[in-house]
Amino acid sequence: MVVQIVETPEALRAARKRLSGYVGAVNTMGALHYGHLSLVSQARDENDAVVVSVFVNPTQFAPGEDFDNYPRSLERDLEMLDRAGVDVVFTPTPGVMYLPHHQTSVIVDEVSQGLEGASRPDHFRGVATVVCKLLNLMQPTVVYFGQKDAQQVVVIRRMVRDLNMPVEVAVCPTVRESDGLAMSSRNVYLQPDERLAAAALYRSMKAAADRYDEGERSPEALRATALEVLAAEVKARVEYVSLNHPNTLYGIHKPTDDPMLLTMAVKIGKPRLLDNCLLPYALNNREHLSEILGVI
Ligand code: AMP
Repeated sequence: MVVQIVETPEALRAARKRLSGYVGAVNTMGALHYGHLSLVSQARDENDAVVVSVFVNPTQFAPGEDFDNYPRSLERDLEMLDRAGVDVVFTPTPGVMYLPHHQTSVIVDEVSQGLEGASRPDHFRGVATVVCKLLNLMQPTVVYFGQKDAQQVVVIRRMVRDLNMPVEVAVCPTVRESDGLAMSSRNVYLQPDERLAAAALYRSMKAAADRYDEGERSPEALRATALEVLAAEVKARVEYVSLNHPNTLYGIHKPTDDPMLLTMAVKIGKPRLLDNCLLPYALNNREHLSEILGVI
């Protein structure tokens, strides 16, 4: 393997010092798939060097969530990252990331509270804190995030702006399976019949997007269209389907011609699946996402 693997903050700092020019960073929890690799490949194309972290961050999991069982495949991940031309991979343990008596965290207030934050109250505090720590260590020019976790993009962009962090945040479109299911490390939890049912999320988003393209602008009507498709799938248990402002995440309750962010969380079997898209659907590409999502 050519890729350099470092396991401690000190070793990462030393490795980072040896890199020059533009540095792209990608933060992951491992169990890598093509969604992750699309971020890495974008980082590779746009920078002189690429640093990737593989760290299942305990502080973003609530008690009772799947931290212990989260899929882990480090050797395979390292091979994939080596083949993708990554320069440095950071694979810390929780013990080196959170020293005894760790007390500091980053809270990004309002945008962390709705949607995912409503059912996972400390999740984005864990995410913002670990991303802040990783960016301090990696010191990248650009950090790449996936649209798949749209609220995460909004939270991180707000943190970077509010704390004057010297990094550009780029957003890469969601990579999907052939039936439209957004790739996710947690998809391995789906039983075969649930895997088929999971395509309902994409179908429901597309149905709403098609209605939008036909001229519908009422958030209630667009939401109803998505819910109707999900209701037809007996295995789908909807937690929320929501239309929000793509920068502030305020709920949209009146018709508008401004872009909207359609998000959903749906349980199918054990896993809780997330998906989202911008409306109009034509905006779901790298350029528009980077210009619109979380940009105030
Ligand atoms: P995770 O390992 O789930 O924390 O994801 C690491 C990064 O990969 C995050 O920025 C995610 O938004 C991104 N990501 C995960 N799945 C996808 C996907 N299907 N398409 C694009 N990016 C993704």
